[in-house]
Amino acid sequence: MSEFKTVRGMRDLLPEEARIMRYIENKARRTAELYGFKEIITPVVESYELLSAKAGEEVRSRMFVFKDLGNRNVALRPEFTASVARLVATTFRTEPKPFRLFSVGSNYRYDEPQKGRYREFWQSNYELMGSNRPEADAEILLLTDSLMKAVGLKGYKFKVGHVGVLRGILAQENVEDKVQNAVMQLMDKKQYEDAFRMVEEAGMSQKGVKVLRKLVELKGDKVFDVVEEMKSCVEDYEKAVKATENLSEILKLISESGNKINMTVDAGFARGLEYYTGIIFEVYVPDLDIALGGGGRYDRLIELFGGEPTPAVGVAHGIDRIMLSLQSQKTKPDLDEEKTVMVIPIQEELKTEALKIAQTLRSAVMMVELEVMGRKMVKALEDADRRGISYAVIVGEREFKEGKAVIRDLKKREQSTVEIGKIQESIKK
Ligand code: AMP
Repeated sequence: MSEFKTVRGMRDLLPEEARIMRYIENKARRTAELYGFKEIITPVVESYELLSAKAGEEVRSRMFVFKDLGNRNVALRPEFTASVARLVATTFRTEPKPFRLFSVGSNYRYDEPQKGRYREFWQSNYELMGSNRPEADAEILLLTDSLMKAVGLKGYKFKVGHVGVLRGILAQENVEDKVQNAVMQLMDKKQYEDAFRMVEEAGMSQKGVKVLRKLVELKGDKVFDVVEEMKSCVEDYEKAVKATENLSEILKLISESGNKINMTVDAGFARGLEYYTGIIFEVYVPDLDIALGGGGRYDRLIELFGGEPTPAVGVAHGIDRIMLSLQSQKTKPDLDEEKTVMVIPIQEELKTEALKIAQTLRSAVMMVELEVMGRKMVKALEDADRRGISYAVIVGEREFKEGKAVIRDLKKREQSTVEIGKIQESIKK
């Protein structure tokens, strides 16, 4: 039989990586609590119809789709938003708003595997539903900033845009929704010339195309100046003007409340998912040119899923990519370095006693490994040392007769004999 490998695009996360992933996940969970988001756990498998309804062609074409044994058309979730929208349109239909819902888990997209791009990846996802006000958008941006800070990421920056500006122009130019979506996809991939050609073919005026061309050039860190320029650039397009005012209001809320977020506004910024209607943003670090997280406002999605009209704003953070950035910044997460103990019975007859001691230490919340290989003491100590264990508790006949055991500090290479009942006390010291 040939050697088994993981399926292309799938990875094993070995202990060191798994630990960092869970560390980030825990920070994400803590951030959810701090901002009042309640966790929900939705299925990895959903109906294809639900997942494909509003995802956008890019994501749709990359879903893992299959028929289950009951001949249902199903897919692995490529994101969380559709599942959350399903809940809000059904089970939560009559619940009082707003909803603040948090999810964390794996997602699946048949992307071309490369650094930071996998076919199975993890996201922490937050949706704030029921408010169309700028303070809701500000909360989602601030929450994202809090998480990036909490995990210890340095030099990250938000790229911010507003779908309402581009869509406002396209709508007033009578470009139909389907073409609008395709144009946004092209702009997301920075294929601007193709996008301009498409809108021209859709009958957009020369003036309109000129405005679009100007917008995609417009970006910068002086965010309020950029937004003002955007506004004057789109002055003949009423909805687009409103969109720039909305963007300005969100940014003002953030900065006037004393929060300093490193941001750049990019007027030509578009995102692949079709459902956005308002502000959109992504987070980047200098050493990685892929987004660590992204989100935005999507006010019409819940209706499209058959629910009450429910404005909403949300964000998904890529846990794998946050881990990659931490690794490339050589940031060691402040993982709790707990003391670990290995309990080694010297004589075969003392293994019950060793197990007893191990259980007692565990009930005192110490991390204990029991020697299970039947190794001689020297070998067992060598092994414990190699794996970075802090203490060995050696259970030998001579000491045991006096109700004692030997504790060896493997770092300091010192040892002492203590009463069995006092082992945990002396290790904790
Ligand atoms: P999206 O749902 O496309 O807005 O993605 C949100 C975040 O999920 C991105 O900013 C990435 O951090 C992460 N992400 C998306 N696709 C992948 C992938 N194929 N591999 C790893 N992370 C991903």
